[in-house]
Amino acid sequence: MKKIISFTCLLMVSILGFAQNPIEAKYARIINIPALKKHLTIIASDSMEGRETGTEGQRKAAAYIEQHFKAIGLNPIAELNGYQQFFPLKFDSVISSSLSISNEKWNYGKDFICPISKNKSNHFTSNEIVFVGYGIDDPQYSDYTNINVAGKLVVIIAGEPKKKDKYFIRTNKDDVTWDLDLKLQTAKDKGAVGALIIDKSMPTFSKGMVMRNSKTGFTFNSNNDDENGMSYAYISHEAGKKIIGDDFENIIDAAKKFMLLNELKKSFTITSTFDFQKTSGSVNASNVLGIVEGSDKKDEYVFLTAHYDHLGIQDGVIYNGADDDGSGTVTVMQMAQAFAQAKKDGHGPRRTMVFMTVSGEEKGLWGSEYYSDHPLFPLEKTSVDLNTDMIGRVDTERKTADSLNYVYVVGHNKISSELPVINEGMNKKYTNLVLDYKFDDPNDPNRIYYRSDHYNFARKGVPVLFFYDGMLQADYHKPTDDVDKINWPLFQKRAQMIFYTAWEMANREKMLKRNKPIPKD
Ligand SMILES: [Zn+2]
Repeated sequence: MKKIISFTCLLMVSILGFAQNPIEAKYARIINIPALKKHLTIIASDSMEGRETGTEGQRKAAAYIEQHFKAIGLNPIAELNGYQQFFPLKFDSVISSSLSISNEKWNYGKDFICPISKNKSNHFTSNEIVFVGYGIDDPQYSDYTNINVAGKLVVIIAGEPKKKDKYFIRTNKDDVTWDLDLKLQTAKDKGAVGALIIDKSMPTFSKGMVMRNSKTGFTFNSNNDDENGMSYAYISHEAGKKIIGDDFENIIDAAKKFMLLNELKKSFTITSTFDFQKTSGSVNASNVLGIVEGSDKKDEYVFLTAHYDHLGIQDGVIYNGADDDGSGTVTVMQMAQAFAQAKKDGHGPRRTMVFMTVSGEEKGLWGSEYYSDHPLFPLEKTSVDLNTDMIGRVDTERKTADSLNYVYVVGHNKISSELPVINEGMNKKYTNLVLDYKFDDPNDPNRIYYRSDHYNFARKGVPVLFFYDGMLQADYHKPTDDVDKINWPLFQKRAQMIFYTAWEMANREKMLKRNKPIPKD
């Protein structure tokens, strides 16, 4: 009896289920809270070390995503011989940095530091040091009148003088703000061999400063245009006193009061030797991709993207980035599983689905830039990119009744007029979220359209939609962006909505029309 009843119930449920739900609803259920939670708890755990691009944490996250893609049966990319598209990052590190004054070797970190990104490798000796005040040479005011610095080392005070509480020079010429680069260029033009900078508000150097100046951050597509043509170091106040002597305190006092210093310039017969050597290294970061091959339209592509990198560890604190963009990463992972299962069951997509999680986003959209400049599938055959970056939370500013049933959709009125039609149609059919187009307002100051990876597809003409929860206040880019803040039912609903949209785009007769202009940054 029991068995028969349950059999009948099952039969009825399945008949009803089939009648009400087309096949995609079955696969949407693979994108469920337990699965999203399982992956996000790992991706946003401390063991991933904040997933900073170019670090061990990023490589661990890549390995985890790759393992999932393999396990669910995604195909690797033939051209890559696997699932990872590697791209090179560069960094510089200091080999040696020394400064001797009057044959006394100064201590790096205590007496001086050499900013690594702006200094070139260089060596010089000089027999004279000249204090040139603020190091400014301007028609309004000059520290260089009647002074010759050719072949000499100059000492410069950071900052500018003021007159009646207004910057002396900036007030008259607001295109000139005597910053360090301009001062160094001026000293160079006048023939100085190097510069020592004294900052009135930095008597000593913090540990962090010393560390930051021993190695640069990673750079991508860089051509070292950061470097000055002039060698320079910051020196501590104690070290400054060794050169300038008894006048030192008066000079710092005057600088603190923004007084003119051009009457205080002074020359010292002191030998100095400066030596700075750095070397460049490189490390690989990666995008992780897998595909579900299409059937009759397999040479056309639908991309589902998110970035798996985040901000790493800063001052010993791990930035887990659960929402940003752990949420998008695990959405792509589960959508991949849903499409892979559909294919196994004989319901595979007509177009080829490409699931791509990228790194380098937080550094400046590096991974997606690299992909779009080195595409593995023709961009003109890429029908659409649906990008997900933060969909697990509710923005703190939102106070309206739909606050628990919305998602921001960005890009709906650009490149293809079909984007909103398909997206709205599938949402209406299955998920009924409020699709908020606020960020597509051309006057919106947040410029969200240019701030995540879809932009690199858009700039090449590929239609894109970007899904986003609007979490710009609250925990955005803070170490408190953790898994316990995720709104799971809303997260699941948004992820399923993206899946339904992707399903329709993968299976419809034609690729998306490209009938609207490509937005320019
Ligand atoms: Zn992000």
